[in-house]
Amino acid sequence: MSQVDTEVRPSNFIRNIIDEDLASGKHTSVHTRFPPEPNGYLHIGHAKSICLNFGIARDYQGQCNLRFDDTNPEKENIDYVNSIKEDVHWLGFQWSGDIHYSSDYFDKLYGYAIELINKGLAYVCFLNGEQTREYRGTLKAPGKNSPYRDTSVAENLALFEKMRAGEFKEGECSLRAKIDMASPFMCMRDPVIYRIKFAHHHQTGDKWCIYPMYDFTHCISDALEEITHSICTLEFQDNRRLYDWVLDHLDDFNKPNRTRQYEFSRLNLEYTLMSKRKLNDLVVRGLVSGWDDPRMPTIAGVRRRGYTPSAMREFCERIGVTKQDNLIEIGMLEACIREELNDTAPRAMAVIKPIKLVIENYPAGQFETIKAAAHPNDESLGERDLPFGRELYIDEADFREEANKHYKRLVLGKEVRLRNAYVIKAERCDKDAEGNVTTVYCTYDAETLGSNPADGRKVKGVIHWVEQTHAKPAEFRLYDRLFTDPNPAAAETVDEVLNPESLVIAHGFVEPGLVAAPASKAYQFEREGYFCADSKDSTADALVFNRTVALRDSFA
Ligand code: ATP
Ligand code: MG
Repeated sequence: MSQVDTEVRPSNFIRNIIDEDLASGKHTSVHTRFPPEPNGYLHIGHAKSICLNFGIARDYQGQCNLRFDDTNPEKENIDYVNSIKEDVHWLGFQWSGDIHYSSDYFDKLYGYAIELINKGLAYVCFLNGEQTREYRGTLKAPGKNSPYRDTSVAENLALFEKMRAGEFKEGECSLRAKIDMASPFMCMRDPVIYRIKFAHHHQTGDKWCIYPMYDFTHCISDALEEITHSICTLEFQDNRRLYDWVLDHLDDFNKPNRTRQYEFSRLNLEYTLMSKRKLNDLVVRGLVSGWDDPRMPTIAGVRRRGYTPSAMREFCERIGVTKQDNLIEIGMLEACIREELNDTAPRAMAVIKPIKLVIENYPAGQFETIKAAAHPNDESLGERDLPFGRELYIDEADFREEANKHYKRLVLGKEVRLRNAYVIKAERCDKDAEGNVTTVYCTYDAETLGSNPADGRKVKGVIHWVEQTHAKPAEFRLYDRLFTDPNPAAAETVDEVLNPESLVIAHGFVEPGLVAAPASKAYQFEREGYFCADSKDSTADALVFNRTVALRDSFA
């Protein structure tokens, strides 16, 4: 975390609460947690929660636990556990002590359920799903009591033990907290706290066939880990009543300075789906190449695309932490990475849609090496060698037979500068049967390497190039938004809002030094954008570059 230690961080309402709790002596130290369910890969929304929770621990010299909230064995697995650990580390954070799992507490949770039964505060209920819904009532009408609500403590203890022993079928019964069927908060109408699932669990194997529900598990896990501030997203606002009710009624936790829950608004990002379930759907249906497809808003996806941990943290700082609903502009995320890479990424030249350029007055078979700065403002990044010769590639968009004065590139009869090299003048061109230009013939002014034309001619345009003999072929993956609608979550199906051009593949050439480009290292391909070698598919023999972000915000 050392690289972020000097950043100035704005405060937010949660930090204000912490400041008050420390000032009043309610707490002497701060302990947060990040509690993902291992049922998918983490996304940018989780990054917000990670930066918030781990960032607080860092700044208050406190602790932050990583706890896998693993009470749904059917949807969870160990691959997800591993990817989540990797993503937290990549973002630059380290959890305190060992990793925790809610499943570590299954024995204790079972004991606390028995404590509630003994206090007459929980009962085994045999209403089926449909009946349970009917008895629950609606937002406008109170529910009614389950006929099993007044079963004796002794009988409930025996029934719960039978549930644990596997003597009932899935769905046949559940353990419910006895709270208030008329509560204005639906979550307080005798919520289920244990259900039967004959499922293998990635941590506890086949030991259990009953699993505790989130609302019962989460507060107790927080309390057992002595979390001080349990920070979650706003959809759990009502559930805070249940969080407190459970802890109020357990002898171990009914004390004044125990954990409290605080809610903030979740991150929503334009043109992006932010739900593991929906992202899983894209993966399962093959609409993307996997969880780490560079178009995915997962941490694994943005990492592969070339985003950096520091840019992600910066983004999380800029969006802030409030209770307001929001839909953040995608441009805000892109600005964070663009601003960083503008300062840090070495420059290089790549021709994405190549046509040939022949310099007719440059000797055939002759080559020279031109030195070019790796970065215009940072000498410490050094220099690179650019082979130059008679035959080059330039981009098809950089030549026109005719153009008006706004087109500052190569035009027949006009001059342009080759980036880092000479001034050239286009003389004529070849075209294929469809009329596409294939080769441009030009002459160069040998006196213009690193200096302006001697007679004072003004040459405004600059284009990039690579020398043909030394150029390395490369595939370029040009990414765009995955969805055409700013709020794809509102669409009926994802199919109708999928952007068919979210990935465009082009084949061109890069300067030879890029053969050694390390995976994921960012470069600015001059005049094209920021790119990095793909961590999965790029090899020295078959280079593949991902466009991280274009040079400018084209949607502004
Ligand atoms: P998903 O719908 O993607 O599964 P979730 O909230 O169910 O999201 P969890 O694994 O339970 O996912 O979340 C772990 C933590 O991350 C929780 O504290 C949750 O509130 C937080 N979180 C999840 N999504 C967002 C988001 N979009 N913005 C901020 N925090 C989020
Ligand atoms: Mg979830």
